[in-house]
Amino acid sequence: MKHSPVSLESAVERLLERISVPERHETAPLLDALGRIAFKTLEALIDTPPFDNAPVDGFALRHTDLTGASKDSPVALRVVETFYAGDTPAKALEPGQCARVMTGAPIPPGATCVVRYEDTDNGKDYVKVPFSLKEYQNYRFQGEELRKGRKLLEKGEYITVPHIGILAGQGYTEAAVFTRPKVGILSTGSELISGNQPLRPGKIYDSNRYMLGAKVKRLGAEPVFGANAADDPKVIAETLTELLETCDFIVTTGGVSVGDQDYMPLVGDLLKAERMFRGIRMKPGGWVTGLYLASKIILCLSGNPGAAAVSFDLLAGPGIRRLAGAALEGHRRIRCSLEEPFSKPNKSRRFLYAYLEAGKVSVSSTGVGSGHLASSLGSNCIVDIPAGAALSAGDTVEALLIEP
Ligand code: AMP
Ligand code: MG
Repeated sequence: MKHSPVSLESAVERLLERISVPERHETAPLLDALGRIAFKTLEALIDTPPFDNAPVDGFALRHTDLTGASKDSPVALRVVETFYAGDTPAKALEPGQCARVMTGAPIPPGATCVVRYEDTDNGKDYVKVPFSLKEYQNYRFQGEELRKGRKLLEKGEYITVPHIGILAGQGYTEAAVFTRPKVGILSTGSELISGNQPLRPGKIYDSNRYMLGAKVKRLGAEPVFGANAADDPKVIAETLTELLETCDFIVTTGGVSVGDQDYMPLVGDLLKAERMFRGIRMKPGGWVTGLYLASKIILCLSGNPGAAAVSFDLLAGPGIRRLAGAALEGHRRIRCSLEEPFSKPNKSRRFLYAYLEAGKVSVSSTGVGSGHLASSLGSNCIVDIPAGAALSAGDTVEALLIEP
């Protein structure tokens, strides 16, 4: 069969040009919006903090009253009121007066600073202050953290833990999010059994289903599982047809290379799917095949879990992100230096799970051979090793950040 692999970039382009950003959206309670993609840009509705307040427990006073104060001649001020967090001061402080304030309590009009309890004699009716303070010392201004109208979350951004806290501080209780696209996942292979069955000779547990399901969830999409299919082109075609009815995008694993039972290209032909590409110039997972049918993409990945994981991240990742409404589709690339040499010259471009820290990337940190799923344990990036000469420690490479 004719096989003319394309570059990864070209495959991603072919995929993305067939996906349009959906405008389907819904409202999610704030906590459920975590990890989802914002459908609307949200701005600060109010200043944070909403009023001038005390950053310490102490006495709010006029700094001009303390001119010349010292240890030997402290200034005594009359304590006229006490404010707790949640109180509202009614009247302004007169010269020579001060108010006891707790952290977070409003600073009464007229006061220009706050002195900490522990820096005074903490007197009841009168308090002695043994030094002077600057104007607005220990003083939290209205709006000093966030000004009303400031952008907090942009359409297309993944909603993170800081967003949740900041939006809650603004009184938001929900957020508009893109509706999750449905991503079909189909494991093919007659050797596969599910985890609740005893392991029989020659069989293996299906890990791709869950591994890819988890990745799909992480991208803000909803996994839909097809019934695992044996290596039988008719059965695979039927299962795919079912998934196409409900799903926006489909990922299959197994049966893409050139073994006797590698039926996915044949399944594509049976279904009369357009073949977007067959093979990508990369390792592992180079046999990946892209099909297009009924305005939907079917991405057929190798069954090898390590290869399926990498090729999912590199290819399905950008496609699903676009489908899910994410503004950033591609991966962020970071230039870094290799921690250890990559001594074998590379016939093809390689993508390996790796650990990036302080500008240095290490591929052997997990102690597991590359290409195995276990090599992704503890990784935080995929390193892009170009085809060609062996690389030495310290050589510059690029790492791709794969988390949303
Ligand atoms: P294939 O791509 O079908 O040639 O499979 C490559 C290797 O991956 C074989 O060793 C398969 O047994 C294994 N494999 C295929 N599908 C899965 C799966 N869903 N979970 C775990 N291993 C798999
Ligand atoms: Mg197989």
